[in-house]
Parts: sequence; structure tokens; C-alpha cells
Amino acid sequence: MARFEGKAALITGGALGIGGATARRLAAEGASVLIADIDDGAAAANVKRIIDAGGKAVAAHIDVSSSKDCRRMVDETVGAFGRLDILVQNAFSVISGESRVHGDAISVEEEDWDYGIDVLVKALYLGAKHAVPHMREVGGGSIINLASVHSLLQETGMLVYETGKAAVVGLTRQLAVQYGPDGIRANAIGPGHIVGEGLSEMWAENPTGHAFFANQYPLRRTGKPEEIAAGIAFLCSDDASFITGHTLMIDGGLTVQLQEKFGLRQAHYALENPDHNFTFGALD
Ligand code: NAD
Repeated sequence: MARFEGKAALITGGALGIGGATARRLAAEGASVLIADIDDGAAAANVKRIIDAGGKAVAAHIDVSSSKDCRRMVDETVGAFGRLDILVQNAFSVISGESRVHGDAISVEEEDWDYGIDVLVKALYLGAKHAVPHMREVGGGSIINLASVHSLLQETGMLVYETGKAAVVGLTRQLAVQYGPDGIRANAIGPGHIVGEGLSEMWAENPTGHAFFANQYPLRRTGKPEEIAAGIAFLCSDDASFITGHTLMIDGGLTVQLQEKFGLRQAHYALENPDHNFTFGALD
């Protein structure tokens, strides 16, 4: 099936993880893809993977914390493919980005707040600012913004990330209402814990920690980048032609689970696994 034949897609953070899988999925369904990422080596490797599989892709060195780069990534996509139909705003490192902005209102440094909000929120406004005129030229388009279970649920020490991800939901709804008349749909995706290349290395050092984490989910496992890419491809496609302003949670049921018995279940799990290492490594 080639749902995106003739379409051009721009994916921020498209080298690895969710963005990497999304680039491969959209390309496999016919889209020409520009991977905008700070990691040149990983971006080149993903481009090669796509081309080897018969797809079309190019990479651009883009740091979405720079407003100049947010403009250049759109210019480069249109320069490479002559149009822009799909914008997936995904860039943020789940390990280094999250640990940089970790903390509460007292402990977070102002410059880290600015960095986090720039990458999580401002970059998405800038991406839309530069992409929408090109989408209008081709009669419509699709914007996907990466939200999170943290858009809805709060945890201590996550001030910047959770404020940013909640704002992603509001920004997405605003874009949907504003640009709906232009045939442009805007939706968000709220992933649960998704293990891409970086997190799989981290969890490999702490498999019992991963099992404990997975046990929090009704499906009793964490997710894979391809499971998010499938949701993104659906929302970008004509199969979702009447869906806009929506946040699709892809979270193994985490955000619909009542917590009452959850603590009890975890206590049993801990009792049954006395050698358990409860360290969450880099995310702590
Ligand atoms: P990841 O760390 O595996 O990959 C992130 C990609 O973005 C990498 O290729 C990295 O080089 C790139 N990147 C980071 N900062 C960038 C910048 N400033 N400019 C351009 N590229 C940059 O992350 P992931 O797990 O794939 O997460 C992707 C998105 O999904 C993020 O927005 C994240 O907040 C969200 N999310 C992830 C999870 C999860 O559990 N993995 C859960 C909820 C939401």
C-alpha cells in the first residue's frame, strides 16, 4: 500500500527512536522524507536504510532549538522535493534531553527551562509557521506533534517536560482550528514508554528495572517505536481524513488504568522479585 506516494514529509529527530521508525514507515508507504536531526551519523544511517529498502530520503543537520534551523528544515524539504505535505514534530532526546530538564520549580535552572520549552514547544510553533504556507500551496497537509503520557499525568521532578508536553496538546488543538479551513489537519500522539535504540541500551544494563517498569502497563510491556510510527502513519493518511485536533494516546493502556490496586500489585511483584534493582538509571 502506498498511501503517501507523491507526498513529501519532514520529520524532526528522524534519525533514531520514534522519529527513525516514522521516517522508515512513511518512506515505505511512498513518501519522500527529509530527516532533520542533530545526529548526522545516525541520520545518514537511517537514510541509507530507507534508500536500500527502495525509498526516498535525505538528511539535514538541524537543531530545532535554533529558530534559524526551524526555518531551514522547511526550506530544505521544499528544495529537495518541491513540496511539503507532512510535518512530524518529534525531536527531543528521551535520555539527555530529559535529564537536562529534570527537576522542580526550585531546582530547575532558568537556562534549562528555556532550552526545554524551546525544543518541546517553541520549535513546534516555528515548524508550523514555516510549513503551513507550503501546505496551503498544495491544498492541505498533516501536522503531527509528539505529546506524551506526561501531557496528562504528572510525576515529581518533571516540571519542564510535563509543562512542555501539556502545551503540545494545546498547540495542536489550536493549529487544528486555525488551519482546518486550509485542509490542514493537526494531531498529536501521546506515547507511553517506548524503547528505541537509546533506552534499549540503558535497560540492557538493568533488565529487572525494565520488567518492573513494564509491569506498570495493563499490557505488561513497554512499546516499540514502530507502534508509534503506525499511529503517526494512520493520522497522516486519508484514513484519518476527518480527524483533527485529536491526541491519540498509544500507551498500552497506562493512562486509563485506575491506580487503586496498582500499588498493591507492584508490592506483590517486589516481594516475588527480592533481587530487584529498582534503579531507573539515567532517568533518575
Ligand atoms: P530518542 O532519544 O530515541 O530520539 C530522539 C531523536 O531526536 C534523536 O535522533 C536525536 O538525535 C534527535 N534530537 C534530539 N534533540 C534534537 C534537536 N534539538 N534537534 C534535532 N534533533 C534532535 O527519543 P524518542 O524516544 O524517539 O522520543 C521522540 C519523541 O517522543 C520526543 O518528543 C519524546 O518526548 C516523545 N516521547 C517519547 C517517549 C518514550 O518513551 N520514548 C514517551 C513519550 C513521548
